[in-house]
Amino acid sequence: MSSNLDEAREQVARANRMIANEGVLDAFGHVTMRHPTDPGRYLMSYSRAPELIQAEDILEFTVDSDLVTPTDRRPYSERVIHGEIYKARPDVMAVCHHHDASILPFCISGVELKPVYHLGATMGEQVPFWDARDAFGDTTLIVGKPEEGASLARALGPNWTVLMRRHGATVAGRSLQELAFRTIYTARNAAMQIQAHSLGHVSPLNAAETTLAGNFNLQPGPVARAWEYWSVRLDKAEGTWGKAK
Ligand code: MN
Repeated sequence: MSSNLDEAREQVARANRMIANEGVLDAFGHVTMRHPTDPGRYLMSYSRAPELIQAEDILEFTVDSDLVTPTDRRPYSERVIHGEIYKARPDVMAVCHHHDASILPFCISGVELKPVYHLGATMGEQVPFWDARDAFGDTTLIVGKPEEGASLARALGPNWTVLMRRHGATVAGRSLQELAFRTIYTARNAAMQIQAHSLGHVSPLNAAETTLAGNFNLQPGPVARAWEYWSVRLDKAEGTWGKAK
């Protein structure tokens, strides 16, 4: 096994625990990354709560969401969300699917999620809304079939965040670090949009501000700073901060 792959497994496991530690993931949801050397594969844990995931839990899947090596461990039923996005979007290197409590009111009401402060601009200029009923009628709302994942990937289109009716959100990134930044700050933005609305009229950033602020925040400096912050918060929560690894 290459050290590249070992490092990737560590990082994807850490991203799961980190985003869980920030309250966006809970018992459910998942973070994946594209395989570091084989773009036709991605890395994802077996089915367990993100906060618990360790490097050794990470399995390899093809972009058709088939296991590369058979295992007794049960994969997530919603892995097709990830596989179909990797298939449709060669520029996407990492994906997070979650049911964050601040995002859900938008998924339930259909009110548009909009960037209302600078860090929220990283959600992207458009956040499409995907309704599984349009193509599939009544379902469990779980995205478990390849054609459902492909439909969601089409709804995402060239954007970075897609809302899923009465279910949650799926977020894409050009790196694991960018993905963590976008996922966490889009969830923060959702909470602030709701809070600000209770005070009165809320106008979002305009299109130019969204582009400018989004690009500014996604520079390597801010992205690395935020990753380090959430990573140390995770180490503190896990009791490993300041201890030799
Ligand atoms: Mn889900």
